[in-house]
Amino acid sequence: MFDYEPIDDNGRIVTLRKFKFCEWCGVVIKIGEKAVRRVYCYDECFNDTRQHPECFEAMKEYGADYDYDFEPMKMVRGKPLHHSDEGENYEPCRIISQP
Ligand SMILES: [Zn+2]
Repeated sequence: MFDYEPIDDNGRIVTLRKFKFCEWCGVVIKIGEKAVRRVYCYDECFNDTRQHPECFEAMKEYGADYDYDFEPMKMVRGKPLHHSDEGENYEPCRIISQP
């Protein structure tokens, strides 16, 4: 069981000054768009991530008490679902996961 420890993970909305990939769905969030900033430790790793606001809501639905585990960048945008739950073979992070 991995340990999750929030640092700044209360759904705070920020406006991006650099583009980021959504931690939940892997779809790019462009400069100037709103995103939820999440700062937390997970399994003793520091994470500073962004999610679409609708993806943050979906994540809360997925694991309401924050004691969840999900596969980053492989979830359905705005839905508490993994792409495999919808029968899709979806690899949005293939490019950036292979240096
Ligand atoms: Zn997203």
